[in-house]
Amino acid sequence: MSFNVAVDGPAGAGKSTVAKAAAKAAGLIYVDTGAMYRAIGLYILENGIDIRDEEKVSGALSGIQVSITYEEGVQKVLLNGKDVSGQIRTQEVGEAASVTSAYEAVRAKLLELQRSLAASSDVIMDGRDIGTNILPNADLKLYLAAAVSVRAKRRYDELIEKGEPAVLSEIEKEIEERDYRDSHREIAPLKRAEDAVLLDTSEMDIDKAVKTALAMIFERRVEVMARRK
Ligand code: C5P
Repeated sequence: MSFNVAVDGPAGAGKSTVAKAAAKAAGLIYVDTGAMYRAIGLYILENGIDIRDEEKVSGALSGIQVSITYEEGVQKVLLNGKDVSGQIRTQEVGEAASVTSAYEAVRAKLLELQRSLAASSDVIMDGRDIGTNILPNADLKLYLAAAVSVRAKRRYDELIEKGEPAVLSEIEKEIEERDYRDSHREIAPLKRAEDAVLLDTSEMDIDKAVKTALAMIFERRVEVMARRK
């Protein structure tokens, strides 16, 4: 039986950084589910489909195959066989993912892929509905949170470091809108599972967040292994 850790929370709370580092240290496979929604968003944009037209987006799904591979432990997302891992990291694709991920057919398409990865491997999976919907029986659930202003500043610093233009107030507004959409949609909204451990990273540097998460993962792993013996 596989060992599964679910990591949920809003954009910029540090989920992927914590999950990647914890995956490496604990020998788990890191599954970034946001990348899967982004791949669908990219396809919709590339094909000139209106992201707000649920019927058209749902109709296009039969032409989309999303899969995951790993190169030296790093997840690659394939869209119809093509590696789009770099292309999906834009603001526009993030926006398209956020809008289209509210559609039932989009979520249904990715549910089985996510569950089957977790059933066959020891994973740390990050997203918005992992602990509440995809893996309700995960061995450990973490919910990462941070103040909007802190998350916006992290994103701003990232963009500046990459030499990309950034306006802090605009980023803050986009994050607020994305949070609102993700947590108010009808299907699988972003929400802390009742049994998820809350990790507020507002006042924590990333090292501290990783160490805290790792301690919890190791402790739970030992408990689970002892129980399954
Ligand atoms: O985490 P990331 O920013 O890459 O996710 C992009 C978008 O995909 C999110 O804003 C969210 O709307 C959607 N998403 C989701 N469920 C997940 C992961 C991501 O709805 N499990």
